[in-house]
Amino acid sequence: MTAVSADPASPLVIDNAQLIGDQWLPACGGETIDVIDPATGRVLGRVPRGGSADVDLAVSAAQEAFPAWRDKDATSRGALLFKWAELIEANAAEIGRLECMEVGHPSWGPPPMPRILRFVAGQADKVSGLSLPTYSPDVIGLTLREPFGVVGAIIPWNAPGPMFVTDVGPGIAAGNTIVIKPAEDAPLTALALAKLALEAGIPPGVVNVVTGYGAEAGAAIPAHPRIRRVSFTGSPQTGASVMAACARNLTPLHLELGGKSPQVVFADADLSVAVPAMVAGITLNTGQICAAGSRVVADARVHAELVDRLAAQMQTVRIGAWHEQVQMGPLISARQHARVLDYLAVGQAEGAKLVTGGGVPAGEQFERGYFVEPTLFDDVAPGMRIAQEEIFGPVLSVLPVDDEDDAVAVANSTEYGLVASVWTRDVGRAVRMSRRLQAGQVAVNAALGAGVIGGPFGGYKHSGFGRTMGADAVLDYTQVKTVSMRGADAGSRRG
Ligand code: NAD
Repeated sequence: MTAVSADPASPLVIDNAQLIGDQWLPACGGETIDVIDPATGRVLGRVPRGGSADVDLAVSAAQEAFPAWRDKDATSRGALLFKWAELIEANAAEIGRLECMEVGHPSWGPPPMPRILRFVAGQADKVSGLSLPTYSPDVIGLTLREPFGVVGAIIPWNAPGPMFVTDVGPGIAAGNTIVIKPAEDAPLTALALAKLALEAGIPPGVVNVVTGYGAEAGAAIPAHPRIRRVSFTGSPQTGASVMAACARNLTPLHLELGGKSPQVVFADADLSVAVPAMVAGITLNTGQICAAGSRVVADARVHAELVDRLAAQMQTVRIGAWHEQVQMGPLISARQHARVLDYLAVGQAEGAKLVTGGGVPAGEQFERGYFVEPTLFDDVAPGMRIAQEEIFGPVLSVLPVDDEDDAVAVANSTEYGLVASVWTRDVGRAVRMSRRLQAGQVAVNAALGAGVIGGPFGGYKHSGFGRTMGADAVLDYTQVKTVSMRGADAGSRRG
């Protein structure tokens, strides 16, 4: 096996530069933000500390590019997205390396961005309206699906590559131009993807990337009056503030927020499949996945065995820096590290039983990075904070239940509703549970979804609203215009 380079320099990233129109520019204010390797604390690079002036420049570039991009035939727009996907595939090793390095996770194999883009590229020229019945034969009625204009997107740090194309892909496929702000903790993958978009021939100004802090560059996006639609992926707290800002401008909004996803395990479940899948699901990206199944709702008849097997499996997880042969890296930042460690203390103070993990792994190699052990709490009550609040770390809470009704009540007992899993061999129970669980996605006998192509993704309740990635991904980036057309010679009927 070839060793992966940990060199922070990348041919796909320009130092201290964000993409506005056709230019790679520093921030208007001249300041920069350091991007940190979460495994060692070393500086990987620096990006501009953009703010409202940078967002304003990017909106102007996007507005200038909009008419030509909107009027380009949809097949050609789709072809450029296919070309972009091809270039990402050709640079997959470097793009994957950048994401691993800035987020801190080990490689998960070829990045999914090419297939996400190809899915939406194929939708670009299949956006169609309706022909409508009319009250008069002299009139034709139809609907047109039109882009909004300049759209804005704000994305988090936990999966910067997929998040970037999940907004930019359908947004520009529909004929919009976009201003996107990646997270300050992991902006490099987004900048590299934008560079490849330009190289693919997507015209300058169609994709603009402004880097910066949430309260500065981020807040400037929903506050901007010429941004016609906003997409936000991140925490519910920030989502609420983005929604308030959108309300002031009456800007439509799509929100993808957090989760506290239940894994409901019945006594007839195949634990040899369920246990490794649940542990892989909560340790993938060190638990920093919105869809992570962080609550195990366990049938009392299988509870004890399940806890033993989960603990044993968690203890096998190899931890280390992203370029080593490990299964789990560090958390993204000192802030996130302090937050997760705080939850580990809260769980114990609340009276949950700590089964395994619970702190920082021992060893010199873990001292400088933001490492935490995979942690299992048992006998967690539904009202405890560790059962209600999103920890965003490798922490599983087991909540014992007596029967199916109890399981549904506990599974549905948080404000979140992103993903829910059911582990059972009973088809009747799987059907009932699929209907009763309050979540945007339900997976049966799978932890993070069973690999459906084109499944719309999004939340119920405080996990957000709107859907991405499905058959409507491009349609969602359009607005509907009804056209009614009366012939100039109406009334002079022929034939
Ligand atoms: P966050 O809300 O702190 O930040 C997300 C983005 O918003 C970042 O780019 C940040 O700079 C920006 N931001 C921060 N304050 C802002 C403000 N006042 N105005 C505008 N933008 C602002 O979230 P995070 O900690 O980066 O990400 C973790 C959260 O994201 C978790 O809750 C996770 O569940 C959620 N998430 C959801 C999905 C999904 O698809 N549902 C996917 C990934 C992550």
